[in-house]
Amino acid sequence: MFEHHRVLGGLSHAFRRKRWTWDVGVHAVGDLESRPGRLLGALTPEVIWHPSGPLGDRFELPGLRFDWPSDEDALGPGLEAALGQTVDLLPWRRQTLYLQDRLLDHLASGVRGRPLQPLNAPTTAALLEELDLPPRARDLLTGRWAYHGLIPERSSSFAHAMVSRSYARGSHYPEGGAPSLGLALRAAIEAHGGHIELGRSVTGLGVERSRIQTISVGSEIIEVSSVVAGLGAHRLLGLLPPRWSTHPWARALAGLPASVQHVSLFLGLSGDPRPAGAGPWNLWLHNTWRPTRETWDPRDQARPPASYASFPSLKDPQHRGGHTASLVAFVPPGLFPPRGTVAYGELKRRMQAVLLDELLERLPGLGPLIEHVELGTPASSTRFLASPSAYGLAATPQRYACPWLRARTPVHGLVLAGGDLVLGSVLGAVAGGELAALALDPGLQPIGKP
Ligand SMILES: Cc1cc2nc3c(=O)[nH]c(=O)nc-3n(C[C@H](O)[C@H](O)[C@H](O)COP(=O)(O)OP(=O)(O)OC[C@H]3O[C@@H](n4cnc5c(N)ncnc54)[C@H](O)[C@@H]3O)c2cc1C
Repeated sequence: MFEHHRVLGGLSHAFRRKRWTWDVGVHAVGDLESRPGRLLGALTPEVIWHPSGPLGDRFELPGLRFDWPSDEDALGPGLEAALGQTVDLLPWRRQTLYLQDRLLDHLASGVRGRPLQPLNAPTTAALLEELDLPPRARDLLTGRWAYHGLIPERSSSFAHAMVSRSYARGSHYPEGGAPSLGLALRAAIEAHGGHIELGRSVTGLGVERSRIQTISVGSEIIEVSSVVAGLGAHRLLGLLPPRWSTHPWARALAGLPASVQHVSLFLGLSGDPRPAGAGPWNLWLHNTWRPTRETWDPRDQARPPASYASFPSLKDPQHRGGHTASLVAFVPPGLFPPRGTVAYGELKRRMQAVLLDELLERLPGLGPLIEHVELGTPASSTRFLASPSAYGLAATPQRYACPWLRARTPVHGLVLAGGDLVLGSVLGAVAGGELAALALDPGLQPIGKP
């Protein structure tokens, strides 16, 4: 396995400053009893997971605080109490279950080699419109849209269903933070004869007679019989010989938009943030009930439409080092001037100050605890992970309707894995890995089943 970054884990890696450590892309992992959850558990038995507790998420919306319970049965009564009206969640639950099953069945049939039909489903907004729910309940039920990166008007209801089902019973966080996943997977890979090389980018793929023959890693050319590409659909296309760019498969994938880009505010704290109102849940800061765009462009918007905060040191009872907090907001592509320029530094400072205000407005007691502040930008994602997009391919209806987006590729021996197949999330990436393995060897037996 060749990994571009010198640190293992992809978006599940962490970085350190003085006594603080931050994850770059894991705040909450969904249903560990789901099929990908059990597969992850079987591959990484040494990882200890901590549930988020009775509260999964806390929303701060204009005029309302809403606590999303980890007990699914408490959600309806919670919404009714918060909104002061009757809310029947049964049709929504049925629809999200149905859509999740439909998507997974569809992807599995692609593995078995059947020609795939487009899989159509409405946008999240259109789906919710059809269900007889009060408008404020709809807004709250779609309030975790930042988990897949698109507002309800633009996201596929498949993505909404996957997120809703995955976090229906709260969330989990791995002891030791996200790096514990990479370490455990490394042990599993090596125990099966695999070998990992860090800091080594694949720079090209050699294809002859529609079969993968070689990979290039810098000046080294290695003969291969098969390749599992876990680096994202768009980056995979960039590695193929140019003549492949006109193949209908490549054109279809190239035509799918990339997901949003993001900035992350990383805070190092001098003490426990619980007295300030923080907890092991994710804290959603929504400045509007119904956002009209995902991203924050400080040139014409004073504040981000939404951001979400997380306190990783409170999610892990064995956490070592200083307490930490992080806050994520989405930004439009091309917002930042080149890294290292004065304009880049100025924009970074301005955005950092606004994000800090966003958090301190809701949790003023945090202010005196802050000792370290740093902002990660899309330039950091590009540098360390070779891509600025937060979730890979955007979770649009067009993405799920694209019959070419599947593990099998028209290049024999080359399969696509990772979050781009199902959804940009840890469990989505595990599900993508399973589909890729089955595409290479349909005889593999599922593991992790009860
Ligand atoms: C801010 C943020 C917060 C998130 N929070 C959560 C969360 O709380 N829960 C959750 O489930 N998901 C979360 N996600 C999403 C989740 O982290 C990703 O969707 C998931 O990790 C994708 O996994 P992947 O293996 O497909 O891709 P990645 O983790 O991106 O791995 C791809 C790897 O390929 C490497 N690579 C790229 N090009 C090359 C090359 N040419 N040669 C060799 N290697 C290469 C990259 O360096 C990278 O390590 C979050 C994402 C972000 C950005």
